[in-house]
Amino acid sequence: MSKPSLSSNHNSVLLSSKIFRSLVLFAIAGFSAIWAIDSSSNIIVEFDALSYPICIILLGAIFLLSFKVSVSVLQHFCYFIITGYLISSSIVHHQLLPHQELSSAVQWLALNYVMAYLFFSRKRAVVLTIIVFGVNIIGHFCVLIHYDSLSETLGMVLNMAVAHIVYIVLLWSIVSIREKAAYASVLEQQVQLDPLTQLLNRRGLEKEVSHFTHLKQPVSYALMILDIDHFKQINDTYGHLVGDNVLVNLCQKLREQIRHNDIIARWGGEEFAVITFNQSTEQVLKLAQRLRLAIEQMHLADIRPITVSIGVGHSHEVSNIEQLFELVDARLYNAKKAGRNCIID
Ligand code: GH3
Ligand code: MG
Ligand code: MG
Repeated sequence: MSKPSLSSNHNSVLLSSKIFRSLVLFAIAGFSAIWAIDSSSNIIVEFDALSYPICIILLGAIFLLSFKVSVSVLQHFCYFIITGYLISSSIVHHQLLPHQELSSAVQWLALNYVMAYLFFSRKRAVVLTIIVFGVNIIGHFCVLIHYDSLSETLGMVLNMAVAHIVYIVLLWSIVSIREKAAYASVLEQQVQLDPLTQLLNRRGLEKEVSHFTHLKQPVSYALMILDIDHFKQINDTYGHLVGDNVLVNLCQKLREQIRHNDIIARWGGEEFAVITFNQSTEQVLKLAQRLRLAIEQMHLADIRPITVSIGVGHSHEVSNIEQLFELVDARLYNAKKAGRNCIID
């Protein structure tokens, strides 16, 4: 079985345009707030006085472009603008300011790693975080070594490296755990579906049945099993692929006829189970007649019309669902014996 895909793009996490635009607006608000705070408290360095408005303008352009250009492309621009700014700003701060310890710009660097995991696939995020980590550590070491002794510089850079490694490992773990959980839930859904018709298979039906049979308030339900008449002849005459196509068309027809909360499943090769809730005996019989007629009248290109035999039973006739399946199966058998294309309830 091929691995179910959790994202439609191999390299990027596909954010919806709405979420992406909200994040860009959030980033613009963040840049503007810091620009205002730094300017008003007179601690702004020349580099930031120039780069804050440039970043805000670029992010504004990305926001406008997001109405025209694919988000997966813009995510890259966004990432490079913010990452580029944060690393260069931190390094420049250390060059320009008097250096006894790490500048406050350092606290923003971890954002680079968060953004990598927010915008890109885990694989790409790992590569990007390793590159950014290397640039951060080497860049800061090269600048700090001009002002401090080797041991002091190593101490500061190692401290920064450990903090960054903690961020990277935690992010990687969170994303891996979430991906595994999502993958397991996709797999669980898939094993309950019939690949040909996308209906619940027998396992899926059993799960649904165990839900409603374990409700505190018992519900009344009816079961019908439909079996295509002489289906083997269809395969023998027209081939297996045509047979498959008939099954798909028949399922579509059944889906159109039943109510939203009714359950429909592929019970066997050419047998389908329908469970309907809170309907009178007459209503259920009418539904079975509607299904039988709809299938008989179904137009299938180049092949003769098909018919179904149907067995019907109600929850009030038995004490548990296993007995109901046995009862309905026996009625289906009687419907076949009675000449097919009929309903026995
Ligand atoms: P009856 O009226 O007694 O039900 O006759 P029938 O031919 O429908 O019943 P039988 O049990 O003899 O044959 C069922 C056929 O359904 C045989 C099998 O090849 C076919 N079948 C089961 N699953 C599939 C499937 O997924 N695709 C196709 N094309 N055929 C299938
Ligand atoms: Mg059969
Ligand atoms: Mg059959």
